[in-house]
Amino acid sequence: MNVLLLDPPWRRRIFRDCFCTSVAKADYGWHPADLLAQSSLLRETGMTPVVLDAVAEGLPADEALRRALGTAAEAVFALTSPVSAPEDEAFLAGLPRVPTVVTGEEAAIDPGGYLQAHEAVDAVLWDFTSPALAQWLGGERDPSRLPGLSFRGDGGIVHGRDPVPGPFALPPPVHEAFPRGRYRMPALGRDFATLVTDFGCPHRCALCNSGVLGHRVRDPVSIASDLDRIRVLGFRRVFVKAMSFGTPRAHALEVCGMLSRAGMTWTAYVRPDVLDGELAVAMARSGCRRVRMGVESGDEALRRAYGKTIPDARILEAGRAARDAGMEIGVHLVVGLPGEGPSTLLASRALLRRLDPDDLSINLPVVRRGSRDDRGGRPVADEVPAWLPAARALLYAGYLARPAFVARTFRAAIRDGEGPDLLRDGWTLLTGRRPGR
Ligand code: SF4
Repeated sequence: MNVLLLDPPWRRRIFRDCFCTSVAKADYGWHPADLLAQSSLLRETGMTPVVLDAVAEGLPADEALRRALGTAAEAVFALTSPVSAPEDEAFLAGLPRVPTVVTGEEAAIDPGGYLQAHEAVDAVLWDFTSPALAQWLGGERDPSRLPGLSFRGDGGIVHGRDPVPGPFALPPPVHEAFPRGRYRMPALGRDFATLVTDFGCPHRCALCNSGVLGHRVRDPVSIASDLDRIRVLGFRRVFVKAMSFGTPRAHALEVCGMLSRAGMTWTAYVRPDVLDGELAVAMARSGCRRVRMGVESGDEALRRAYGKTIPDARILEAGRAARDAGMEIGVHLVVGLPGEGPSTLLASRALLRRLDPDDLSINLPVVRRGSRDDRGGRPVADEVPAWLPAARALLYAGYLARPAFVARTFRAAIRDGEGPDLLRDGWTLLTGRRPGR
């Protein structure tokens, strides 16, 4: 059976994997973890996963539809999100009526409600590590054998059982089915593979739903097989896809050992209160080039409101640990959390100067569906004053215009062959459009 693994087209580069939605501010992106994971599980049962990542390829809807129809798919597994829902639904409506399963932020958080509202969708997968998609497509209808899947039954919507707690096994994904060179991450460039190591997150930040999903690590044996496969395919760079790498420590150190033996250069997200000297050294020695830390704000009270009760001193300590170990730092900030004002913005600017990151991502706040502060899909950003986007631009400008940063970026661009991509980023940031579209 041909199963189309679909990242439907949208007008901007959008990320909808791991039940989390975000829109890229520049031209970067990784392989959707849900599609990667299901490619492995479908192949294991003898089905043929056919990937169409219309977002990574920058395909307009008509071209994506032509390509999708050409796959002669007998079933569809698609990403969706609250942000792109109208376009996602219109795109799926253009495909032949075959069994259709979706996953994504809205669908996975309330699969019953989603199925009631979307008659053209037959099932929702709310755990992307589950083999239930392949089993359901193969005819299985016993919910006790379908963990992480909700579907239409004769008597209404049926919910599969919860996944078994503990590590999950995942055979190597069909990395080669994804369009090589169409993904890009800072410090990795364009030729990298994405390695799933975790499901969910061990932390519980207020606006984020990753912690609500629980946290399970991937069985180290299956990570090692995946890395073997990644090496055979010729990749030497890896984006470690964990919402927050480093917990539990023993698993993280084991993954570091495997990445080291595989000779990979890699990056990952780490919470600052998890990154200490021991972890930083292990990561750096195993090839981690850049850690990305969600700092959110330079103001401790705002961080507390976000659910990150991490003192400034601990964040600076994490930054020092990363630098001392020889790693670069990427920092994520949120501007516009309730209570944001001139003093908190100045605090963010001051913390940024002290951290001196190699790259910076500043986002307006969005409440994830299913998070502790879920407001029924209403974004916090609707409530922020109009001047906050300008404040964000000023924070960016103050950070980007420093000669030390420009020099460092220039050196990294030469090292990673990223010069044209950085120019493209500048174009995207200035115009909001991807070049060539
Ligand atoms: S924001 Fe918090 S809960 Fe969400 S992925 Fe990051 S550390 Fe985990």
